[in-house]
Amino acid sequence: MKNLHMGEASARPRVRELVINWHITEACNFSCRYCYAKWDGAEKELIHDWGRTQKLLNEIASFFAPSNLSNPLQQALSWSAVRLNLAGGEPLLYPEAVLRVLAEAHSLGMNTSIITNGTRITEDFLDQLAPLVSMIGVSIDAASDATNVGIGRVDRRGSLLNNQELARLLAKARTINPGLHVKLNTVVNALNAEGDMGNTINTFRPDRWKIFRMLPVVTGDLAVSSEVFEAFIARHARYKGVMCVEDNDVMSESYLMLDPRGRFFQNSRGQQGYSYSQPVDVVGATQAFTDWRFAVGSFASRYSHSSNGAVR
Ligand code: SF4
Repeated sequence: MKNLHMGEASARPRVRELVINWHITEACNFSCRYCYAKWDGAEKELIHDWGRTQKLLNEIASFFAPSNLSNPLQQALSWSAVRLNLAGGEPLLYPEAVLRVLAEAHSLGMNTSIITNGTRITEDFLDQLAPLVSMIGVSIDAASDATNVGIGRVDRRGSLLNNQELARLLAKARTINPGLHVKLNTVVNALNAEGDMGNTINTFRPDRWKIFRMLPVVTGDLAVSSEVFEAFIARHARYKGVMCVEDNDVMSESYLMLDPRGRFFQNSRGQQGYSYSQPVDVVGATQAFTDWRFAVGSFASRYSHSSNGAVR
C-alpha cells in the first residue's frame, strides 16, 4: 500500500518521514574527485560545539514537528515523522559526537540515520550505533580497487574500503536491530559508468540502492551524459526492486539539507555552488527557513510520484 497520497482537502502530498540531511563535517579520509562536501565559511563546524549543536537540534525538532502548522513547508507537504540523517564529509571521523547527536535527536522525538563511507565502522562502534538508527547508508561506487583509487576513494595511506568485511559488519548490525535498513549510494561517473556492481549488491543485499548521476555542483570532473547514466541503470535492471534513481534534474533543489555550520543550503539552479540560510542555532529555524529562498513547490512536487512515503 502506498503511504503517500494527495490529501482530499488540501491536495498536499503526504509523506511518512521528512528527512533532514545534516552534513556535520567537511572532513573526510577519502578524496573523491567529484566530492560535493565543500561549503562556504570559515567558522568552526557546529559538531565541535555541543551547546550550539543542542540548540540546532532543538530548533529542528520543534520547527519540523508534524504538529507545527506554522512551518511554511506544511503548505505544500505534510509528514508524520522527522528523520535526522547525518552525513558529511565522513561523519564517523567523530564517532563520539555522532552517538551523542543521535541519542539527543532520539530524545527530541526524531528518527535517525547515517550515511558513511564505511571505513571507520568497527564491531564495537556498531554495537552502539545500530540500536540508535533506522538506516545506515554506505557510499560504494565500484568493486574494483583500481576504479576506487582513480575516483579518490582511498585514504592517505593507500587503504581502501574492505567490502567483504563491511558487509559482514552490516549483517551483524541487522541482527542487533532487526528494523535497520541498509542502503548503498552509488555515484555514476566517468570511471565506474561501464562497470557492473552485481557482485557488490549481492554481497551487501541492501534494502535500497540509491544511484546518482555525477552532479556538477562543485566540479564537472568525471561528469557523465544522461545516455551513459541510463546505460548503467539498464545494465543493473535486475536490481530494480531495490534501485532508486536520482538524475540531475531531480537532485537540484530537492533536498532539505543543513551544512556543517548549521545553515540550510540548496543547489543554486543553473550555477555551481550553494545558497545558504542564516545559522539555525543563531537566528532560530523559523527565521532561517523563512528568510531563505527555498523552493517549497519544487521540493514537494518531487514526492507526488514517490512510492514509499519517505522523503529521502
Ligand atoms: S567519501 Fe564522500 S565525503 Fe568523502 S571524499 Fe568521497 S564524496 Fe567526499
